Amino acid sequence: MASILIIEDDQRIRQSLATSLAERGHDVEATAKAMDGVQKAVEGQVDVVVLDLGLPDVDGADALQMIRAVSEVPVIVATARDDQDEIVRIFDAGADDYVIKPYSTDHLEARIRALLRRAATKIEATEVGVGDLRINTEAHEAFLGGELLDLSAKEFELLAYLAERPGKMISKRELLAAVWRQPYGGADKTVDVHLSWLRRKLGETAAEPRYIHTRRGIGVKLVEPES
Ligand code: CA
Repeated sequence: MASILIIEDDQRIRQSLATSLAERGHDVEATAKAMDGVQKAVEGQVDVVVLDLGLPDVDGADALQMIRAVSEVPVIVATARDDQDEIVRIFDAGADDYVIKPYSTDHLEARIRALLRRAATKIEATEVGVGDLRINTEAHEAFLGGELLDLSAKEFELLAYLAERPGKMISKRELLAAVWRQPYGGADKTVDVHLSWLRRKLGETAAEPRYIHTRRGIGVKLVEPES
């Protein structure tokens, strides 16, 4: 069971979603107004926020930035706009995941479960494991199938950042901010070069990825390889 906040101005969607999530045992709060939602998201005991992008009072992406300025609560953006630029923009604004409207409650609930699992592993972790990869952020060591990987400091930080968020598509901008401490952006090429070095050390290539999957114009994610 999760405490879910829905920010959605379409009354029909808001009510049916709130009802069906509540029927599944979740604790649901719903509001039609962005500013009211932002306030609830940052004050309340909310596990996850479902945020509609097209809101009448404040643009959803702006609302997301307001939440992100003060809170790390997981946010799933619901968008009707299946547009790559829009998706890049919402990840840059700090979304954890997105769903394209119309979506089913089953689909949304699965996304919520995955997000909450990731949030839980993030809190525990000094040791992160994905597939045969083990990363110890205290010892600053990474192992692949028990073998210590010879990584530079930045390669390690990059790998650890991705592995702490398995399955999450992360923008290069976020990586530049988190790993290279360049919050206002920098050269994407810096990330590309380090990713290619990291791939080589993990024994994979861009053409045949196993752990590291990039999507042009969107970002990169680390996943458990398919066996
Ligand atoms: Ca709307």
